[in-house]
Amino acid sequence: MNIKDTNAGRDLEALRAAIAGQLFVPGQAGYDQARQAWNLAVDQRPSVVVVAGSAADVVQAVRYARAHGMRVAPQGTGHGAAPLEPLDGAMLLRTTRMRQVDVDPATRTARAQAGAVWQDVIVPAAEHGLAGLAGSSPGVGVTGYTLGGGLGWLARRYGLAANSVSAAELVTPHGDLVRADAGHEPDLFWAVRGSGGGVGVVTALEMQLYPVRELYAGDLFFPIQRAAEVLHAWREWTATAPDDVTSICHILRLPPLPEVPEPLRGRAFAILEAACLGDAGTGAELTGPLRRLGPELDTFAMIPASALGQLNMDPSQPASGEGDGAFLADFPAPAIDALVAVAGPDAETPPDSVEVRHLGGALTRPAPGGGAQPSIDASYLLNAAGATPTPDLASPVRAHVQAVKDALAPWHASYDYYNFEDTPAAATAVLPPASARRLQEIKAAYDPGQVIISAHPVWPARPNRI
Ligand SMILES: Cc1cc2nc3c(=O)[nH]c(=O)nc-3n(C[C@H](O)[C@H](O)[C@H](O)COP(=O)(O)OP(=O)(O)OC[C@H]3O[C@@H](n4cnc5c(N)ncnc54)[C@H](O)[C@@H]3O)c2cc1C
Repeated sequence: MNIKDTNAGRDLEALRAAIAGQLFVPGQAGYDQARQAWNLAVDQRPSVVVVAGSAADVVQAVRYARAHGMRVAPQGTGHGAAPLEPLDGAMLLRTTRMRQVDVDPATRTARAQAGAVWQDVIVPAAEHGLAGLAGSSPGVGVTGYTLGGGLGWLARRYGLAANSVSAAELVTPHGDLVRADAGHEPDLFWAVRGSGGGVGVVTALEMQLYPVRELYAGDLFFPIQRAAEVLHAWREWTATAPDDVTSICHILRLPPLPEVPEPLRGRAFAILEAACLGDAGTGAELTGPLRRLGPELDTFAMIPASALGQLNMDPSQPASGEGDGAFLADFPAPAIDALVAVAGPDAETPPDSVEVRHLGGALTRPAPGGGAQPSIDASYLLNAAGATPTPDLASPVRAHVQAVKDALAPWHASYDYYNFEDTPAAATAVLPPASARRLQEIKAAYDPGQVIISAHPVWPARPNRI
């Protein structure tokens, strides 16, 4: 679409005047800041950026785009911007200003506007002794994370965040604001729970919260030279861990930066991280076999649920990076050996962070009335990531991440995890096959002209045009 076209340009100025939020075009002051994703390595150059201030702004923006044959890419933080197709000619629709969160302690639910990040939910929920199903980083957007599944510290007990969504408010590709819940818009309600955002622009999500005020959690730091021993022990331990325990093994190379605490700065570790629902005695007993391995540093203690976001030591500020992940059907001894070879003490060019998360528990049981990811067959989840502070590092770091993923190829499940697939991949590569087929049908019904761009594209089952 050419916004130099007289009608389009005039209508764009009308849109700018009509919305509560802001609108930027290339060359205009503020455009570069508005188009910047959390992942600083991503250079998205849309024709228009709309920073929506309200659901009404989203309606108007989508109607404008539709009227002028422009595609729309909804985005909150841009944590998940890496796999997006080029946005040339498209509208980037940022929800970053829409961060209102309302917690209802009586129903144990939260309603979060589309631009809210997890910290915006965690804090007010904690005031009532409640917790949402946040992931490892409180800065990640509630919407993108939840639309793609949402695997966090309470996953083995309460499942995917997507399956705790009770309603979504979204603007359809036709520009209508609708509510999708158990009684309305069943296809849209199903799709927003795990199949990404390809069926509309979400303006708010309602979700279940859980009564978790505090829990027993922490990290065990071992020198990286002990990686093989520690990972084998963790793997055996996970076979006996109850659903109340969610854990991660993490090979982490910390940078020599002043913000990293002195004993850890510039060093490499094999870290075991776990969150155990229940009291300190139960937690200490459950984690005993791991703690008896004799870590260099042991941080296990009762912590408020609101502090879980610090366990995995994710970057809290926008950063340049390359990452990728894969569901693992299993993580047996040969897989551990393969991982240690590419990421352990003797690896020549490992990514900064390589983690394997333990799945199972509630994740394996189909959520009643669940969405596009009703359950997860895989037993573990791999994620590898590396910082790319200068552009010349992007290509080698991407290759190192890919090498880790390839090393575990014999144990990959049949599809990857939506949220950790950070390279361009179709929805069919990151969803169960039956869900991918249903999503294509829904896309054909709601968005045959593919107005909405999503992280992992879905093509309508019956090609059509608007
Ligand atoms: C440091 C870090 C830690 C992470 N930890 C976890 C974790 O523990 N568990 C986990 O499951 N994932 C995790 N992720 C992955 C993360 O969930 C995905 O990157 C997710 O897409 C981020 O959502 P966002 O809204 O912040 O990002 P965005 O880039 O803003 O959004 C990602 C995609 O979501 C869709 N989307 C966003 N907003 C809307 C909307 N309003 N309407 C329609 N579609 C929309 C779009 O397709 C968009 O491209 C992590 C990522 C990072 C970088």
